[in-house]
Amino acid sequence: MAKKLNLRNPNKASNIAVIGLGRFGTSLALELVKSGCEVLGIDSDDRLVQASAAGLTHVVKADSTNEETLRELGIDEFDAAVVAIGSDLEASILTASLLLQLGVKQVWVKATSSAHGRILEQLGVHHVVFPEADMGRRVAHMVAGESLDYIEIAPEFVMVKISAPTSFDGQTLAKLELRKRYGVTVVATGHGDQDFKNATPETIIHKGDHLLLAGPTDMIRAFGQLS
Ligand code: ATP
Repeated sequence: MAKKLNLRNPNKASNIAVIGLGRFGTSLALELVKSGCEVLGIDSDDRLVQASAAGLTHVVKADSTNEETLRELGIDEFDAAVVAIGSDLEASILTASLLLQLGVKQVWVKATSSAHGRILEQLGVHHVVFPEADMGRRVAHMVAGESLDYIEIAPEFVMVKISAPTSFDGQTLAKLELRKRYGVTVVATGHGDQDFKNATPETIIHKGDHLLLAGPTDMIRAFGQLS
């Protein structure tokens, strides 16, 4: 497979191996394909390999804990590899360790607990992700009614989608001065969830609009109390 390294963003990968085609691995692999990446899906379960064959660039039934198999697949030639094995801790850790040993440039591993994550970090895994814990936190903000969507960009800095306070009806963003008054930035607005557009000072807020906001967590939280 040809290698396409992106010099502007050395983390940007175009040839990616996804190991473990469960729900998380499959969803990730399909999204990577949509983003224009070439994706090799690997799973030890033949049924899952067959099920993913149509959507991915290549699929192979293989045991990722077998060093020889990984070598034969030329895993070190990939820009990145993602280990999406959840319940089999031993297989996850062994696979991650082999990928590092074989020199894969960017190793991403899904961790299912903080202990699992700690071991992966100690091994030197480049990116440890906690999809279940992260999603749980994100959904909590929606369930609590604070926001329609919630993404943590960095510790103490978030992006949220919320309904516009009714008191904003008919006013432009320039007039509302939200950054000056509340420390939050409106990135985009939409009528409900339709027609989302980049925000400009001339954007007029209407009742029922949704706002995409970015800002420090405490300021976004305070802003969420407005009605
Ligand atoms: P989900 O993403 O569905 O929540 P999960 O976190 O429960 O999955 P598992 O089902 O344990 O994770 O593993 C995901 C996939 O990884 C499974 O399809 C499994 O067959 C595959 N898998 C597990 N061990 C290996 C291995 N050693 N080599 C290749 N694939 C493996």
